[in-house]
Amino acid sequence: LIRLDQVTKRFGDNTVLDHLDFSVEAGKHVTLIGPSGSGKTTILRLLMTLTKPDEGTITVDGQRLFPASDKEVREVRKKIGMVFQQFNLFPNMPVLRNITEAPVTVLGLPKDEAEERARELLDLVGLADKCDAYPAQLSGGQQQRVAIARALAMRPQVLLLDEVTSALDPELVAGVLDVLRDIARSTDITMLCVTHEMNFARDISDQVLMFDSGRIIEAGAPEKIFSEPEQDRTREFLSAVL
Ligand code: ATP
Repeated sequence: LIRLDQVTKRFGDNTVLDHLDFSVEAGKHVTLIGPSGSGKTTILRLLMTLTKPDEGTITVDGQRLFPASDKEVREVRKKIGMVFQQFNLFPNMPVLRNITEAPVTVLGLPKDEAEERARELLDLVGLADKCDAYPAQLSGGQQQRVAIARALAMRPQVLLLDEVTSALDPELVAGVLDVLRDIARSTDITMLCVTHEMNFARDISDQVLMFDSGRIIEAGAPEKIFSEPEQDRTREFLSAVL
């Protein structure tokens, strides 16, 4: 479903991704791990078209994302939802409207249909009673669960998750991860996540990719990567974070 071929990304003379190849099959859950600065977030940002590669090609569902025309990019972007470390909710809109805004304005969904779907999603993330609350009235964990519901409201084929629990107080992390486990189990959405939560990665991933200096140095099933990593660098990284 997602395919990166020979993707290189530089910031000045810092080569962040170096001729990277990788692909994610539809419905799979893939987790990117590795030290800070190894290029994980950059991959998600490329897929969200928040930044462009210097070289290489990116396709999603057979459609070009890079290089591509603005029209092609708009089409592909509809297939992808993202949840960020900071929740980025619209502060001036109640929860329900935060979720219905894009489906109504971007997809042209009728308002009542969008609201019905938003209520179902709020139920899924355990916040059915918070429709009318404003983001500032919610805890960080609740805001992040709204952000997840908002991403799903666009019915994306792919959900990108960028360290979605890193900004949360420790006691709020489990609730958000439980919601994501639920989504991984109960939907056929393709998930690509960057996380430092190794237990979560072990639970939900079909495949774990270990990054170092802009390259994938090891890839495999979570049991393999976490229990019998082949590379010294992976072992060092895991012993530092586990
Ligand atoms: P972390 O876990 O800390 O988020 P990461 O593996 O996700 O790390 P990236 O955020 O992808 O790493 O960053 C990779 C490198 O790219 C880092 O060296 C970072 O300093 C650099 N970088 C990222 N964004 C920019 C930018 N907008 N301008 C310049 N350099 C950048």
